[in-house]
Amino acid sequence: MNHSEIINLLGEEHEKYFQSIAPPLIQTSNFCYPTVSKMRSALQKEFDTPVYSRGNNPTTGILRKKLAALEHTEDCLVFASGCAAISSAVISNVHAGDHVICVENPYSWTNHLLSSILPGFKVQTTFIDGSKIENFQNALQKNTRLIYLETPKSWTFELQDLQAVADLAKRNKIITVADNSYCTPLYQNPADFGIDLVVHSASKYLSGHSDVVAGVVCSNKKMIRKIFKNEYMTFGAIISPFDAWLILRGLRTLQIRLERSSQTAQKIIEGLKSHPKIEQVIYPFDSGFPQLKLANRQMKNASGLFSIHLKTGNAQKVEKFCESLKYFRLAVSWGGHESLVFPAIATELKVSDIKSNLPVNMVRLYTGLEDAEELSDDLNQALEKI
Ligand SMILES: *Cc1c(COP(=O)(O)O)cnc(C)c1O
Repeated sequence: MNHSEIINLLGEEHEKYFQSIAPPLIQTSNFCYPTVSKMRSALQKEFDTPVYSRGNNPTTGILRKKLAALEHTEDCLVFASGCAAISSAVISNVHAGDHVICVENPYSWTNHLLSSILPGFKVQTTFIDGSKIENFQNALQKNTRLIYLETPKSWTFELQDLQAVADLAKRNKIITVADNSYCTPLYQNPADFGIDLVVHSASKYLSGHSDVVAGVVCSNKKMIRKIFKNEYMTFGAIISPFDAWLILRGLRTLQIRLERSSQTAQKIIEGLKSHPKIEQVIYPFDSGFPQLKLANRQMKNASGLFSIHLKTGNAQKVEKFCESLKYFRLAVSWGGHESLVFPAIATELKVSDIKSNLPVNMVRLYTGLEDAEELSDDLNQALEKI
């Protein structure tokens, strides 16, 4: 099946729903049965049958089928947030006494899980520079149980070699998890390289309209069944049928949104690279990117998120630049229809003890669906003000 078939047809049984083109929104908590024996048998196979929407819901079920197929995995679960998906994928695979290797400075709440929460349950993590495979090898311990990747990372865009890490992990019977939010399944499929669990924040491109917070774990049937039975049903951080429906709607245009966002970023970057007030642009498919060869090997393309370093160490000037932008809104997140700007100087997280080590002059930009030329003009006028 190609992307369009998966996105538009897979899991949808139009004949059951009055031939409706849009999938049905089954906004219900529970499902009823005509007999006790049918009720009992449904309860015995709650993984596959709608009983109660904390487990199985038909609208969410359609989404699960599509996302699993897009990620080239057997199954998937959809959660109330990317963080719920990430925590469940990790917690499902570690026990007291285990060791985790994680790429340094992962997404802030992934960092918090591994560095602040899991040590309380006797799970320790070593954070490494993931750009060299030797660093994974050197961090191995007898009790290493899980390797956590995020490639590319969402501020600094370093990559990890999916194939090399998956091979190393398999030789040592270690489970691998990769956060694939940046690429989406259309631009990278970690499972093709042997990564065991692929996680996403569906709050970004997958939903695509800045109106949903959700997360995804894709893996084989066995691992998904285990997460379903334990973390999914117990923590109950499930997606609501309505949010699942919104993601189904968002997915219809994923390909065209992603292409547009990525093309716009690439056009804008060409202009920014020669701008006298810009020191550096960081983008995985840029000709000057240090890991470009690896990017070309494991990614089909890079998306619409990139960082710049302004040629100033002055925080006020960075603020002025960000506040002068008209189309790029000052906000966290990315992957929606709207262009965004997020300066590193805004990343001090008061609720977590994680400190970002990002430089003062670093600004993250996301190109949405607006016109590339207008966005470019917007950046130029804001640069002129500093
Ligand atoms: C946003 C994000 C997350 C967290 O997802 P939520 O849906 O916000 O919980 C995880 N990883 C990456 C790379 C992200 O950008």
